[in-house]
Amino acid sequence: MKRVIVSLLAAFLCCGADWTTVKTPSPGPTQSIGFYSAGCLQGAQALPLDGPGYEAIRISRNRYWGQPMTLQFIQTLSEKVHAQGQAPLYIGDVGQPRGGPSPIGHASHQNGLDADIWYERQPGPRRPPAERENPRLRSLVIEDQTLDDQVFNAQHVALIKTTAEMPHLDRMFVNRWIKARLCQITTGDRSWLHKVVPWYGHDDHFHIRLYCPPGNPQCKPQADYPHDDGCGAALDWWLKQPPTIFPPDEELAKNYKPPKLPPACQTVLNAP
Ligand SMILES: [Zn+2]
Repeated sequence: MKRVIVSLLAAFLCCGADWTTVKTPSPGPTQSIGFYSAGCLQGAQALPLDGPGYEAIRISRNRYWGQPMTLQFIQTLSEKVHAQGQAPLYIGDVGQPRGGPSPIGHASHQNGLDADIWYERQPGPRRPPAERENPRLRSLVIEDQTLDDQVFNAQHVALIKTTAEMPHLDRMFVNRWIKARLCQITTGDRSWLHKVVPWYGHDDHFHIRLYCPPGNPQCKPQADYPHDDGCGAALDWWLKQPPTIFPPDEELAKNYKPPKLPPACQTVLNAP
């Protein structure tokens, strides 16, 4: 209920909120337009809610739309992880039916190339989609102060490494304490660590970000980042920061400033 009120408030206050209420994708070929945190998606496709090795969660948010490349990435990763003997992955938000900004929850996920994947899954058999709205999923980190060794295990390492080595991945975001541990324990080939980038939160799920696909000339790539394993000075900076405390949704909605989108996004939004 709280979320509904905040969304209504945001819809009233702010121009960007139509993106959150439009229920269907726009027609036309799939095109990622603009940047991950200032863009939209024409011709989005829906991730099937269940597949081999994964289950989409929080279906009521209607954020399971993306680029075919993103959906394929999720499906291939899930099959790989399943083949390793791991439990099905929980897939959280991909994007809204036309991408675009959403005042609560994300700055990115706007052009169909971002997705959230959870580290943990509720034990037991598959549940129907309606019973996957509010799964209780554990964090791998204790209050952003240290890794939780009661939870963190080798399966998480395998999951992150498998993801980092997939084609089309630009980068993936994990909590700083997870990155720090990976830096510490990885022997042999460390090249995959490069794509595992620390970010705020991301202690109960990680975030994948794919490159702009070929044939999407309006998609704006993200700047490159250092080519080493990211375990040196860059990580030191993260580890010196105070623990992150996220403000409540109401405060986020109040302070929300919509990004400036490329003009082509208005056409996507207005399409029937
Ligand atoms: Zn995300």
